[in-house]
Amino acid sequence: MGFLYRSTRDKNETVTASQAILQGLAHDGGLFVPDEIPVMDLPLEKLAEMDYRGIAYEVMSRMLTDFTEEELKYCINSAYDSKFDDPKIAPLVKHHDTHFLELFHGKTIAFKDMALSILPYLMTTSAKKNHMDREIVILTATSGDTGKAALAGFADVPGTRIAVFYPKSGVSPIQEKQMVTERGKNTFVAGITGNFDDAQTGVKKMFSDEALAKELADKGFQFSSANSINIGRLVPQMVYYYYAYAQLVQSGEIKVGDKINIVVPTGNFGNILAAYYASLMGLPVNRFICASNDNKVLYDFFTTGVYDRNREFILTSSPSMDILISSNLERLIYRIAGNDADKNAALMKELSETGKYTITDEMKEALSQFYGNYAGMDAVAATIKSVYEEDGYILDTHTAVAAAVYDMYKKETGDATPTVIASTASPYKFTRSVMTAIDPAYDSEEDFALVDRLEQLSGVKVPQAIEDIRSAEVLHKTVCEKEEMEGVVKKFLGM
Ligand SMILES: *Cc1c(COP(=O)(O)O)cnc(C)c1O
Repeated sequence: MGFLYRSTRDKNETVTASQAILQGLAHDGGLFVPDEIPVMDLPLEKLAEMDYRGIAYEVMSRMLTDFTEEELKYCINSAYDSKFDDPKIAPLVKHHDTHFLELFHGKTIAFKDMALSILPYLMTTSAKKNHMDREIVILTATSGDTGKAALAGFADVPGTRIAVFYPKSGVSPIQEKQMVTERGKNTFVAGITGNFDDAQTGVKKMFSDEALAKELADKGFQFSSANSINIGRLVPQMVYYYYAYAQLVQSGEIKVGDKINIVVPTGNFGNILAAYYASLMGLPVNRFICASNDNKVLYDFFTTGVYDRNREFILTSSPSMDILISSNLERLIYRIAGNDADKNAALMKELSETGKYTITDEMKEALSQFYGNYAGMDAVAATIKSVYEEDGYILDTHTAVAAAVYDMYKKETGDATPTVIASTASPYKFTRSVMTAIDPAYDSEEDFALVDRLEQLSGVKVPQAIEDIRSAEVLHKTVCEKEEMEGVVKKFLGM
């Protein structure tokens, strides 16, 4: 067996990959990181000839060191099948002189499906491997897209239950409807009267509450996480960056070995961290372009070296990126601190006590491959409109944040390296914002009338995920204060 995983806050806690997936978060509140990032020993020429599943096996088998070939292939083949409405799973399309990696062809039409289609299989396989007989309770905080993708993945999976918390006033109407109409019998959904950070903090608190863990164990339950703090989310997300590269080689846009830029609309820093991990594994990357919306903590961090969450939380047209505490940044901080758990733990303590921390100049130098910028709501709307008018392609609001920031990057640097933009959601998920960007007059129409308008304009068929909720019944009506989260979870579990 290969390397182990360890906590970003405690050099003594080590676990296997499957234990890290089961546990989600380390006991000390740290995140699990691989002891080393293995080098991809298969030549890029070979990978460039493979399909999605083939690449998924090569990448994931290097990272999830205690899974057998049979186990991993079972998980991959069960996840990446006709649930996706494109046989390529993650097709790369060219518009506006840029390559968009469409990550929204799964069941809930956001990129969260890429990892959450496979996580339930990884988790139940991990439970078997570790002879775990307790029921797994997935606790999830969502800024809108993780929630439904996790519900869809775990619905009616034997041996699991799932509870999802979303900010009651902080998601799009379609996102909310997708969640509250979920039919799985093992599911629970609640809106909280707070923002995403409140939901995420509440969930993390339950995870690191030892007394609660014991109480749960006595009743035969164990918590785990479907958020991108779980390594079982991060590893599957490395795959599509390799696959994007393979598609660029296949179409003759680049030669094997050429570097590419990767632009990621960022919130919790999971997606872009997966790209970074892929490059540490050997994927040739020039720059990582981190695109933020008005909640621009990360832009400030990359430009000044100061992470400061003490600011107003802004509700934007890209709600899945409305985040001030980007959890996965901790994994990057740990790395640039020289894999030093004590140094990282001290910074994270500062973050939780004062809401900010400053990295050293030496650490900042290690971030030279990262470029950060942000796009406000007007720039996002203007980008949606101009890309549409140029060639009829309609971006969702999150992808538009990335496209707008990429335009700024090009102007600033003149860098002409071939570039991939992670396209994280279907425009159908944010129909109102997208349609009113094209013409404000659309704002007077009903949500589902706008859906039909979008179909006429884009020529892209309404996805099944949207058809499913047109007339679906609302089944989840719980709304609670953030202080009540633990109580409602216990009630859901019959404790
Ligand atoms: C979750 C999400 C993001 C942010 O991804 P992170 O991994 O949290 O940085 C961006 N766009 C969409 C549509 C999302 O659902």
